[in-house]
Amino acid sequence: MVGRYPSPSSSQDAYAPPRPQRPPAPINPTPPSANPPTAAPHPQVAPQLRPPPTQPPPPQTLPHNIRHTYPPRPIRPPPPQTLQQPQPPPAQIQPQLQPPPQYQPSQPGPHLTPANMQQRPATYSHATPVPLAKRPQPPPAYPHYQPQAPPLTQPAMRNRPSHPMPMRLAPPTAPLQTMSIHEQATPPPGMHTASITDSRLLPRPDMSPSAMATRISRGDPSPNPPSDTAPFTDPITGQPTPRMAVEPAACPPEAFVPVTNRAVRLCNSAFPMTIALAKKYSMPLGAVVQPLAKDDPVPVVNFGGAGIVRCRRCRTYINFSCSFRDGGRRWICSMCGFTNEVPSEYFSPLDQNGKRRDAAERPELHRGSVEFVAPAEYMVRPPMPPVYLFVMETTPASVKSGALAAAIAGIKNSINSMPNEGRTRVGIITFDSAIHFFRLSPGEDAEPSIFVISDINDVFLPTPESIMVQLDDCRPCFERALDMIAQSQIEIKGVVSAPSCLGAAVKGAQKALEYSGGKMLIFAASRPTVGPGSLRERGDNSYLGTDQERGILRPDSAVYSQMAVTMSKYQISCDMFLCPPPPGHYLDVSTLAPLMKFTGGELFFCHNFDAPKDSPRLQLAINRVLARETGLEAVMRIRATKSVRCTNFSGRFFLRSADLLSLPNVDADKSFAVQFQFEDSSVGEGPFCLQVALLYTTTTGERRIRVHTVAIPVTSSLSDLFLRVDAPATLNIFARQSADGMKDRSLNELKKNLLDKVITALAKYRQVCQTQYPAVLGSSELLLPDSMVLLPLYMHGLSKTPILSRDASGAFLYKFDDKSALAHSVDIMNAAETSALVYPNVIQIYPWPAGEGKVVKYPPGAPATVATLKSDVGVLIDDGQSLILWLGRAILQRFTSELLGKAVSGPVDPRYLSVELMRRGNTIKGPISQVYTTVNSILAARKSFMPFHVVPEGDQRMQPRVEALMTEDRSASTMNYREFLLEVQRRIAQTASRK
Ligand SMILES: [Zn+2]
Repeated sequence: MVGRYPSPSSSQDAYAPPRPQRPPAPINPTPPSANPPTAAPHPQVAPQLRPPPTQPPPPQTLPHNIRHTYPPRPIRPPPPQTLQQPQPPPAQIQPQLQPPPQYQPSQPGPHLTPANMQQRPATYSHATPVPLAKRPQPPPAYPHYQPQAPPLTQPAMRNRPSHPMPMRLAPPTAPLQTMSIHEQATPPPGMHTASITDSRLLPRPDMSPSAMATRISRGDPSPNPPSDTAPFTDPITGQPTPRMAVEPAACPPEAFVPVTNRAVRLCNSAFPMTIALAKKYSMPLGAVVQPLAKDDPVPVVNFGGAGIVRCRRCRTYINFSCSFRDGGRRWICSMCGFTNEVPSEYFSPLDQNGKRRDAAERPELHRGSVEFVAPAEYMVRPPMPPVYLFVMETTPASVKSGALAAAIAGIKNSINSMPNEGRTRVGIITFDSAIHFFRLSPGEDAEPSIFVISDINDVFLPTPESIMVQLDDCRPCFERALDMIAQSQIEIKGVVSAPSCLGAAVKGAQKALEYSGGKMLIFAASRPTVGPGSLRERGDNSYLGTDQERGILRPDSAVYSQMAVTMSKYQISCDMFLCPPPPGHYLDVSTLAPLMKFTGGELFFCHNFDAPKDSPRLQLAINRVLARETGLEAVMRIRATKSVRCTNFSGRFFLRSADLLSLPNVDADKSFAVQFQFEDSSVGEGPFCLQVALLYTTTTGERRIRVHTVAIPVTSSLSDLFLRVDAPATLNIFARQSADGMKDRSLNELKKNLLDKVITALAKYRQVCQTQYPAVLGSSELLLPDSMVLLPLYMHGLSKTPILSRDASGAFLYKFDDKSALAHSVDIMNAAETSALVYPNVIQIYPWPAGEGKVVKYPPGAPATVATLKSDVGVLIDDGQSLILWLGRAILQRFTSELLGKAVSGPVDPRYLSVELMRRGNTIKGPISQVYTTVNSILAARKSFMPFHVVPEGDQRMQPRVEALMTEDRSASTMNYREFLLEVQRRIAQTASRK
């Protein structure tokens, strides 16, 4: 029987015995989130890319009731400024900048409740409380909306502080964003209007260079990050002031270090007090967590023999939001309110403010993220070593394409990068129509031997002790075996075709790992066709985008799900590297994917494997999987404040009980999402706390508990909630829901649901505004709170991704396997990746923009529209899933010459320019070195093995794909961004008129 971590009575996080009979847990999508590390720059359009017209066209109006029809998708959509035939009159968007109306301390203000600690400015000793009424008006949300507006009369509007006002100081006036696509009514007093005559001024992410860098690495910032502690200068007192959402109870505010927005990103930086309010809010309440995100170093705390201090009632780990009483002898759990005794070893007196005197020296009391060394009670066997079993297909499909050779090269090159403290174990299995177990022996001259199992319906394990061996002892034999497999391909080359017994090989690999647990890395190029788990051809691409596609996106058989559940029980994870050769055979990724989904594995999918182009990428992927920070035999539990239940978990795991996620493997690239549900009608006055605890074994053999704790204010005000939406995190939840929903619902239904959610929320917001600022609702303006100004763009972009759009699937030359692979990659995306997926980062990079000099920074971004793709520039397009360098016709030759270092005569196959750019790397001299540096930094921010293509203008295969990535443009079945905003506006008006 395999040793495992039983659940000690004192620890709910400890590993409980597996229950193999449990069916795979239903997975529900949830949103990722990330909070910007620095103050959020606000959306802004790079003016140099699209200079404003010297003479603005006269304002035109668009009748309220016009419905658009959409012509067939043109090869090249027209610039968004003009609508095509059949053509309604050009719309004019007139966002009005609104200095929010004068603050009126009347109720019901969009404030936190008086009980909320955020409303006590006196908590900071150096902050002089200032009556709110004396404060200047908050600045407009988006100063760039009014570039052509008359000079602003309020200085505050021109000098917006770089940080938004902290929650406890914010006057109740919401920073309203109004946009009118119709002729503007007379603006209410105090409100400035700006005519917008071109699409540059539609709401977009901030595209300044620094904001682009942040967007790529962490996602669009939230205007009200819950944990932003960067000091800012108080506009009233002129004092530098720290900011945070909730004051830490255990330590002085100035010592507090919050969780980064990569580790935990909440969908809203406030929490509704009651279930009734949550229903009115109608947007998802949840969080995106990336527990092992590569961030600042997390301090390690060892409680030694005293044991980790946890709440006796709810098992929460001690944290900064817990308060101390009775001179430090008792502590109050911030989740459940239980009063616990402080162990004598942990006692410290309190200061005059009730904070622990030793809080600044104890990371768990002043840092949101901390890692505890797990004592003996968290384990019953020694922590498992890193174990790697390589399972390789040796059919002609795999050999002839070069995928097998690339895999072997990748493994050999990564041996030194694998974690190895002397305990690492390895093994090799190959398969075609039979399974080949490699027996490895210690010694310099040891030769591998092979056992062939032909009876694939009844796989047994020959000599279990010599299949998985110590890497240090058997490395020469291990490398010789790899060479032997590479050699054998020569003999195989004559074979025309051979069946694959992938399912049986996975079973055999599972048997080899049952005794130790570990990671199996499967390299396959064909669909399993013989033995258990063989699959039929069913990927008829004509069904893509139709109502019939759901059936094909669902697994065809439960065999692999069942295998995965068994593997999870034995702490086995499964990574798959699927490389079907041209012309792209159907592998049935939908059916194979549960192997990764329930075991925390990685899915690498490369259609039409082209060795010269894709081998380097496959090798990078192998290296990344073997070398990155990884947690083994892990369990994760997410706890929330009493009365709130964590539910709808999304990601790669097996749900072992209602809220215990089993993760045989978890790594720095994996994000999860969770949603919150009320269990009672109210959560009390708060704050709302969330704690993510991941118990895992490091690859160096230590048992650790990574704990992230976040605390946010509770509010009874609906407008407060709307002001504190974290749009990127909310989008991540929506994207996961859409990717998951593809299997059960039609694309139209999914798209309609998305739109309905946004309409409902914005209509609700409009209602809130109506009660407070009736003046701003003169006509049919589109009102957007500061925090949600990008949400319509996100929803528009999501409906245009290949997940929800048939047009995009066609443009991307998607097949069923591609679509399945994309859907499964959404379940590990963080907020930065989903933001890029729906609105790609577009950067004009070649020639390098003037004025940037040699400083390595991102050039400014540009709108995702074909107008950006000019013939004399090179544009980098990052959608989080691939990176494209698009080169205009007039610039291609120059780029090629500069890259290859000589005058190039005749056509150069552009497919290999990307390989050449990356191969030359740092040795490149001249202007292209900046291109390389930027490409490299984006790849580093994503997974390093993300595909990178160089696409010349007009490329038959890739140009439609590039155009499909231009989110703002129209496609055959979707409207353009401006039309989408019109539609949102129309629907909101419709909703309002029904009330
Ligand atoms: Zn508790």
